[in-house]
Amino acid sequence: MSDARRRAEVAEYAQRLHARGWVANHDGNVTVREGDGRFAATPTATSKAAVGAEDVITVDDSGAKITGRGKPFSEIGLHLTVYRARPDVHAVIHAHPPTATGFAVAGVSLSEPMIAEAVVSLGNGIPTVPPSAPGPAACQTLAPFCAGHDAVLLGGHGVLALGADLEQAYLRLELVEHLAKIALVARQLGGIRPVAPAVIPSLLEARRKAGLGIAAPEAPTAPKLVVACAPAPPGSDVQVYDPKRVNSKDLATIIREELESALKR
Ligand SMILES: [Zn+2]
Repeated sequence: MSDARRRAEVAEYAQRLHARGWVANHDGNVTVREGDGRFAATPTATSKAAVGAEDVITVDDSGAKITGRGKPFSEIGLHLTVYRARPDVHAVIHAHPPTATGFAVAGVSLSEPMIAEAVVSLGNGIPTVPPSAPGPAACQTLAPFCAGHDAVLLGGHGVLALGADLEQAYLRLELVEHLAKIALVARQLGGIRPVAPAVIPSLLEARRKAGLGIAAPEAPTAPKLVVACAPAPPGSDVQVYDPKRVNSKDLATIIREELESALKR
């Protein structure tokens, strides 16, 4: 992806945060990994409704600005903590969606797994990172939480969501707010009945196989197929796709079979 396209995406998702009512004033921030220890970021002290591609800055892995007009936001350390802990993460979004943030400031946990699909998407419940002083202390407190979860509540503060790209981080933030609304209703109706503990390991296994969470780098990937002009090396179990052979398997069939066998392992 070009730098220009990446900056446009950061601006687009920043604006979406404001349009959804998940930020006010200068709240919220969005970053994307650019590679080579560089990150595209929304600038500080701006309404997310007003962030354009030309406003997006680039910072290094210490949070110092490399390019752009604006200044880095003060919570950049939280984003960098996530990127250090999670090589699979390429986008981080922080916002204050009202219902989830209500849980965070009330000190009410969202850590009970409520819906099976959410365990696959986010991990086993949404943990709350205890409040701590901004800066290095907050980063140190956050680090262990982002290893096993793709979204966390920041105690007394808001929500942080991570993703392989901006779309995934945004959808996870959306899911946290949605689950918070469900939890709020469930509490009014007598309380949450969490997903049975016996089911959790299989949901986490499904999460791992789907390539989500910290397991993402180990996730099964589509095999590298060879469009053959020569036979596969002796002893190789690589299937060779040869369009000239009448009985050669269809490429999509080979990929499907490989993925199925990988998922069974
Ligand atoms: Zn905040």
